[in-house]
Amino acid sequence: MKQTRKLLALVLCLLFVLPAFAAAVFAADTEICNVIFMIGDGMGYNHLKLAEEQGYEIFMDDAPDLLGWSRTRSASAAVTDSAAGATALACGVRTNNGMLGVFPDANKLKTVQARSVTENAIMHRMKTGIVTTDLTSGATPAGYSVHTDSRNNTEEIIRQQLAGRIDLIFGKQQSVATQEAVEAAGFCYLPDRAAMQALTPGTRGYGQFGTSLWKLDLPDAKPSLLQMSEKAIALLSDNNPNGFFLMIEGAHIDKNADDSKNGEVDYPDKLQNTAQAVKTFDNAVRCAVDFARRDGHTLVIITADHETGDLRYEEANGRMTFHSAKHSAANVPVFVYGARDLFENGSEMDNRDLPNLIAAKLGWSERFPIEDPAGTIVEPLPEPEKEKDEPGERAPGFFARLLQWLRALLQRLIRLFR
Ligand SMILES: [Zn+2]
Repeated sequence: MKQTRKLLALVLCLLFVLPAFAAAVFAADTEICNVIFMIGDGMGYNHLKLAEEQGYEIFMDDAPDLLGWSRTRSASAAVTDSAAGATALACGVRTNNGMLGVFPDANKLKTVQARSVTENAIMHRMKTGIVTTDLTSGATPAGYSVHTDSRNNTEEIIRQQLAGRIDLIFGKQQSVATQEAVEAAGFCYLPDRAAMQALTPGTRGYGQFGTSLWKLDLPDAKPSLLQMSEKAIALLSDNNPNGFFLMIEGAHIDKNADDSKNGEVDYPDKLQNTAQAVKTFDNAVRCAVDFARRDGHTLVIITADHETGDLRYEEANGRMTFHSAKHSAANVPVFVYGARDLFENGSEMDNRDLPNLIAAKLGWSERFPIEDPAGTIVEPLPEPEKEKDEPGERAPGFFARLLQWLRALLQRLIRLFR
């Protein structure tokens, strides 16, 4: 009897566990419902090496599913600024430096706007969020939330953000989004970390969190990029059958590496501050990837809008060294976690190609760039998409969870023995 039971156990093992193991190794990528798109502003690949040189352990290039390279130019220059860079990544169109969410064509400027991936996500009834260490009106968050011909139109940027449909906007405080204006627009006004932590799912929040959010050590009142990201992911993923799109920006890799933005700083401090901003961003990356691995239906893409500082290894001093005080035209890395079929590993692409990778992965029929009449606020589709409305689809069954677990285990083992 005992032997029969042992035999039965063995047969069951062979029948279920081994195929599951094989499937985990060779499985096609699972369906993606959520996208976390992360922008290290100014982050070239060598910025990761600088951070390691400065003593920080960096996670983001530790066995991604894919690593590709993004060509970052704008319509008006070989070297893009953050506004045109964000527009390419958000809307799939290369516009002129300084412009946000609009086509570069002067004839179109007043009549047509370029729809962002955030807006298309809203149209597909997904929840959306923007998290940054920069001002909420900064060029990168603005590229994902507004349409205007100048990044300096702060009042118009805030007006459009408050009039729009994004669920969460967290960042550094600026002067226009007053508590009165934010609350009148239907957002909960979040002045500090405690207010952010108290925000409950289903409530829209606009964070105005003071300055220096890029630092690793912050006073209690200020949330770190990691804490903002954790909270945004928790809120957007809560009881949400339609999925979410979240853009997270580490703005201060650029700001610390660009002499025109960081004021008078000694060169060793510039290296250290830039490295610290990379580590701050990397902490948020790790949190996003951990969520994606637990969830099994989340795609994480980590890239930059451009490189800043022409950072290269210098033979003479044996260290990473800045060769410029401004943005450069160098290609930037594109790390992918959660999908292995997004592009051919190691390939080069244009910055404007990235939103279409997201569109394809989410099963959208739309392809960027998309022209909308100027002033359009994209409305959610009237009916939920049928395939995303089926009960139980988002909660993976036992077998699916086992597959995810085995796949994660195998990835860990591969990393361990590499
Ligand atoms: Zn930038």
